[in-house]
Amino acid sequence: MLPDDLMQNLLVKPGSGAKIAKRDSAWAFDGIDQDEAKKQATESLERDLAELAKAQDLLYANASRAILIVLQAMDAAGKDGTIKHVMSGVNPQGCRVYSFKQPSTEERAHNFLWRYSRLLPERGMIGIFNRSYYEEVLVVRVHPELLGDSATAKKDGPAYWKARYEDIIGFEQHLSRTGTTVLKFFLHISNKVQKKRLLERLDDPAKHWKFSANDLAERALWSDYMDAYDDAITATSTEWAPWYVIPADHKWVARTVVAGILTQTIRGFKLSYPVLPPDKEAALAVARKKLEEE
Ligand code: ATP
Ligand code: MG
Repeated sequence: MLPDDLMQNLLVKPGSGAKIAKRDSAWAFDGIDQDEAKKQATESLERDLAELAKAQDLLYANASRAILIVLQAMDAAGKDGTIKHVMSGVNPQGCRVYSFKQPSTEERAHNFLWRYSRLLPERGMIGIFNRSYYEEVLVVRVHPELLGDSATAKKDGPAYWKARYEDIIGFEQHLSRTGTTVLKFFLHISNKVQKKRLLERLDDPAKHWKFSANDLAERALWSDYMDAYDDAITATSTEWAPWYVIPADHKWVARTVVAGILTQTIRGFKLSYPVLPPDKEAALAVARKKLEEE
């Protein structure tokens, strides 16, 4: 279980700045010996995964709420690995992962939330967006030419993006009011660690397929991306859909913390298995009798 103050530190308080540059992406349970920290983190992750499996079963049985996890990060920050680890113990029936790449022509022809709204989790489910509608204020802000009508974005400047933040805030408020809890994680890595991980991809033939020349082009725009992340996270961290900035230079830290926050969130729902009304209970007794008499 994560200490409360840790969760509070990673949360971007609504109305206050994300201040990403001031946050330590290499944080690793400071103050205790690193081997000990790793050991404790592994144990905490295992406990959380066991609890998560049970909690998910309840979520599915209850079918009263859904969870949407939004994962955003620069390349090689460990989104895939985090999903793999955090979801390793859950029933695949109750969980869906969607990875968003460049939109198709059809998707571009619709409003900017369209392709994401179609894939929202229904009640009882955990949905994970590996990249999300936030790309519409991140990559698209860094590359306004993607809009096709880039002239508009340039002309309106900040007002254009402010309107998109407002749309996102409203969208998430609607989700929250209708039973979907939205949890947003930014896996925060340093520029140096990204370089190291991209080089590892080049060094290992089994990871070559993960490397894209485009990663270097985007890496060159690092500070534009950090500005876009800072503004978007600051503008859209709300009570009903908070952002957590996760220190991700150490993969084990990111996984432990994400699993911890997710588990704690579901625990907060205080779910229990549905209790049947008396007539349905009576029907069960009849069914039992029938089976026993076969
Ligand atoms: P990996 O970490 O394995 O590289 P990835 O999520 O980066 O995974 P890629 O296939 O490498 O997956 O890249 C997907 C690309 O699609 C990213 O560069 C991202 O910025 C881009 N993309 C996602 N959503 C949008 C969008 N709405 N508009 C334009 N580009 C988008
Ligand atoms: Mg990529």
